Amino acid sequence: MEKGSYRHSEKIKKEISRRHKEWWEENRNTQKVKDRNKKLSLALKGRKMSEEQKEKRSKTLKGRIFTEEHKKNLSIAGKGRIITWGQKIAKSRENNNNNRHSNKTREKMKQSRLLFIKNNPEFFNEHRERMKGKGNPAWLGGISYEPYDKTFNEDFKEQIRNRDNKECLICGLQEKDSFRKLDIHHIDYNKKFSVIQNCGSLCASCHSKTTINRNHWILFFQSLLNEKYGYNYSDNKIVLEVC
Ligand SMILES: [Zn+2]
Repeated sequence: MEKGSYRHSEKIKKEISRRHKEWWEENRNTQKVKDRNKKLSLALKGRKMSEEQKEKRSKTLKGRIFTEEHKKNLSIAGKGRIITWGQKIAKSRENNNNNRHSNKTREKMKQSRLLFIKNNPEFFNEHRERMKGKGNPAWLGGISYEPYDKTFNEDFKEQIRNRDNKECLICGLQEKDSFRKLDIHHIDYNKKFSVIQNCGSLCASCHSKTTINRNHWILFFQSLLNEKYGYNYSDNKIVLEVC
């Protein structure tokens, strides 16, 4: 055969395509293909296309229309392909009832988190100091604490945490397993109303969830605290017993 470009006849094209498919079906999950892909990806890594190459490529791709048959073939070829990380995570979430990680993995993560806290206490202390006042991006010039009333102090907050067994009321995360102390949430969202019946301990993650669906969360906490501690509420208001 002489050097140059050749146009295959339809018959030969079909034959080539059939052989390709056959080869792919037989080999797509083999080590040989995996090795080849690895080599390819290594070879392509860090390769930079020249401007000329880019333009050429974009011209080739532009306006390319896939025939119905080609699309169908693409979809067949795509089936059974190794899925990406994002897809894997999405799948495992589905399988785990929306839990991103299995219980075993979560336990492992917890242990490594605890180890990190134990080995790096200064990291968190420094971070805490940095995030105080002006160091915090959310700092509003000293007014952010004003809406809270004077009884909402560290003693009061600690009293609530102790009442709740130092556990997040929503997810049960224990304070000792967390990077920071539990937040104290105002059940009726009135930060000036700091009484034990209106406050509960939450981890930072759950606390952030309570910023929306407020009516849902008011009812949720009121019924939870009623069940746990016998507090009474009516029409979202606390009912205090008069002795
Ligand atoms: Zn929580």
